[in-house]
Amino acid sequence: MTESRTKLLVIGAGPGGYACAIRAGQLGIDVTIVEAGKPGGTCLNVGCIPSKALIHVAQEFETVTHAASGKSAFGISAEKPQLDFGKSIAWKDDIVRRLNTGVAGLLKKAKVKSVTGFARFRDGKTVEVETGSGVEVIHAEEIVIATGSQPVALPSLPFDGNMISSTEALALTEVPRRLVIVGGGYIGLELGTAFAKLGASVTVVEAQPRILPQYDAELSQPVAKRLQELGVTLLTGTKAKGLSADKAALVIKTADGAETALSADKVLVTVGRKPATEGYGLELLDLDRDGPFIKIDDHCRTSMRGISAIGDVTGEPMLAHRATAQGELVAEIVAGHKRAWDKVAIPSVCFTDPEIVSVGRSLAEAKAAGDVVTEVFPFRANGRALTLDRDDGFVRVIASADNHVLLGIHGVGAGIAELSAAFVTALEMSARLEDVAAIVHAHPTQSEAFHEAAMKALGHAIHI
Ligand code: FAD
Ligand code: NAD
Repeated sequence: MTESRTKLLVIGAGPGGYACAIRAGQLGIDVTIVEAGKPGGTCLNVGCIPSKALIHVAQEFETVTHAASGKSAFGISAEKPQLDFGKSIAWKDDIVRRLNTGVAGLLKKAKVKSVTGFARFRDGKTVEVETGSGVEVIHAEEIVIATGSQPVALPSLPFDGNMISSTEALALTEVPRRLVIVGGGYIGLELGTAFAKLGASVTVVEAQPRILPQYDAELSQPVAKRLQELGVTLLTGTKAKGLSADKAALVIKTADGAETALSADKVLVTVGRKPATEGYGLELLDLDRDGPFIKIDDHCRTSMRGISAIGDVTGEPMLAHRATAQGELVAEIVAGHKRAWDKVAIPSVCFTDPEIVSVGRSLAEAKAAGDVVTEVFPFRANGRALTLDRDDGFVRVIASADNHVLLGIHGVGAGIAELSAAFVTALEMSARLEDVAAIVHAHPTQSEAFHEAAMKALGHAIHI
């Protein structure tokens, strides 16, 4: 057994934990980070990065498949495309490996001490880590819990064999012929779209009356339409009951109460994620909870002095960039800076086809808070969208009716994830419709739809 002391101990090296440790190191704090797996956490290893790599491969394959079908509007033809899925996965794994090495290097550059192993609390100032070379006891003045989240399993469908979570789905060595997905939210639809483009026959079973229920129907509708064009079967208002007796099919109960069995080679369960709060002695600290999550204040402090928590373990939205921003905040507070969580908005992007971008208040939230002015500008009136042969979707602005300050900006369109930067900048700068309308936007770009939506809300759009 070895013993060490540190000013700041971070448990978990996901986007929350590693950003916290790097920022603390930059600020000259003596910092140690403990990670049971690989640096980068869920996001880098089994989440954001590998899923976006797979989505890109699938899009490339679909483009060639479409050309080979003879339906290309551009006059491009191709022979029947072949997919070496093993190579696709190797390419994805190489990106993950490069980023793992990159994060480890950044931690080292910031003079962070990295310990590999599973950490357990002994008390609020002491943690023991099972490392490859024995137990290391670490005494810390401040501890940051950044343990992230894990996939939720349904009691009737435990992960096992062909019943998989997103982690196994991202490590498949071949494209399943028949893929049934339980849960039509972020992960189910991002991965479902990718596997459909790669040639799988995909069925989505969603309990709510429509897919992506976290967004309003206007935003989710173009995604539903495209999924149907890709041949994906959407069974909404439908619940998964369990496996058939021979384990070769998923028994579902449809909206009309009928029970049927869906044959499947793999069943991917994506019904949400839960905070990682078990197995590491958290119960010894008895921290206040916010539902299943660790409760924090606007400084990311928990109910125990000297212990902070960041990222997915602290609640919604469970997004990598929120975790990172919280991590930097905590490091700066530990360094003595005057900081508090004061963000106006955290952008969310759903990497479906088309992509959905949502920043700030939803339409319902904005309307509930007061009088609003809202307008949409459709991509069918946007030159760039037409040159991409993707005129589905729109940009929507919502502003306060009295002073025109923007409250929410949403969009749905092919490849519009990057517009999230313009949307969130406008909200953080308290921009008004007049500010966005007065800015010159480059032509031809999809971002002109944002400009035009603001002008339309002011009653003087040019292109519609
Ligand atoms: P995590 O990334 O979960 O990291 C926690 C780390 O703590 C893990 O590495 C774990 O091994 C370690 N750990 C836990 N307990 C201990 C312990 N006791 N001792 C030592 N180490 C421990 N978000 C986005 O913003 N954009 C996306 O496109 C996106 N795509 C996603 C796709 C998928 C398939 C999934 C599953 C998630 C996706 N997310 C996305 C969500 C994103 O991955 C999470 O919000 C983010 O990883 C949370 O970061 P975190 O630092 O809180 O925790
Ligand atoms: P989710 O909350 O996005 O979707 C879960 C879906 O499952 C919901 O639509 C819900 O109605 C449905 N559902 C729940 N129980 C069901 C049942 N018994 N039968 C059928 N449907 C059921 O959750 P997720 O897709 O697992 O993703 C988890 C989290 O990961 C997200 O909330 C998000 O925070 C994060 N994530 C983000 C991104 C991104 O930013 N692009 C991508 C993937 C994941």
